Amino acid sequence: MSYLSDDWLKTEYAALKQAGLSRHLRTVMSAPTGRIILDGREVINLASNNYLGLSTHPKVLDAAVEATRAFGTGASGSRLISGNSELYATLEAALAKAKGTEAALVFSSGYAANTGVIPVLAGERALILSDALNHASIIDGCRLSRATKKVYRHCDVAHLKALLAESAGFQRRLIITDGVFSMDGDIAPLPDICEVAAQHDAMVLVDDAHGFGVLGENGGGTVAHFGLQHQGIIQMGTLSKAIGGLGGYIAGSRALIELLINRARGFIFTTGLPPATLAAATAALNIMRSSPELRQHLLSHAKRLKTALVELGFDLLPSETQILPVVLGSPQRAVQVAETLLSAGVFAPAIRPPAVPSGTSRLRVTVMASHTDEDIEQAIDAFALCAQI
Ligand SMILES: *Cc1c(COP(=O)(O)O)cnc(C)c1O
Repeated sequence: MSYLSDDWLKTEYAALKQAGLSRHLRTVMSAPTGRIILDGREVINLASNNYLGLSTHPKVLDAAVEATRAFGTGASGSRLISGNSELYATLEAALAKAKGTEAALVFSSGYAANTGVIPVLAGERALILSDALNHASIIDGCRLSRATKKVYRHCDVAHLKALLAESAGFQRRLIITDGVFSMDGDIAPLPDICEVAAQHDAMVLVDDAHGFGVLGENGGGTVAHFGLQHQGIIQMGTLSKAIGGLGGYIAGSRALIELLINRARGFIFTTGLPPATLAAATAALNIMRSSPELRQHLLSHAKRLKTALVELGFDLLPSETQILPVVLGSPQRAVQVAETLLSAGVFAPAIRPPAVPSGTSRLRVTVMASHTDEDIEQAIDAFALCAQI
């Protein structure tokens, strides 16, 4: 076979398809609310990370439009050169306040934040201890750091402790965990992790992409949920989920932020975010903090849907959050259920390896505060059609 033609690419793709692992892009033709127009058809949206519905909040839209008129559509440079709009300072101060830290630093995405911060915290002589189900951006950050990485079993603090007991030869130790796991919806045992970390002088980095805006007082996230703000935990998060926009951030001490500005390649070598994105995030953050009713709606929808799916006989992992993993096993079965749901007007896509471990293909079902009770009941009716697949 010649690699000058694209035959080998076609062969690779055919193999993916054969294994039930090929993916294709769907087209969304509306705003990401509780119901969307997907490939031309209205469906109930159980696949959005816009948990609180803030990406279409009128005040957030106004902020984005005003910032665009005042500052234009793009940042025009990296933050260290000409792209550090004054809108960053306002957003970062609000983030530090929301997270209960001295300072915060915004990156262009959550992916950039994780791949930026991990190599700064852990170099070649460091040991990283990473939960088996951590997000792919953490895995990539670990690779870029060149540190030694050991993976502990999911949420297994005894295993973490055993690995730390053999870590004396390393210069530094860094424990990394999702706060709320993105595909399982369960919450990391942070108090126990912090206790073990203190015994071994290890740093703790929590990726709170899915806890921020949802858990804890004023939506502060997983660290706030456990009341651990004063434990020196480094908190990573995104503005792309409950905040409804785009961007990632690291919240921690001022010393950490100053070093990141100087060393984090994912911060330095990329253009700043558009003014609209920064202003929208600040507006959404303020609404998020002062709207406990949005969190109540979200979690009560999750509870209703979860109870109904269990009654229908589906196998749900023990999530306590807005993320409901409906485990179906093989990728083929997951796809078949997803397609049946879609033809009944409900969008809950199949999640397959490598996003989840093999044999645990699933639907990752998420609810939104802006769903109506009827949306949820209609979704349950559609799931009832799939109970025998
Ligand atoms: C979505 C996500 C990220 C990446 O954030 P983006 O802003 O989408 O780049 C990182 N970690 C977790 C756990 C996520 O779910």
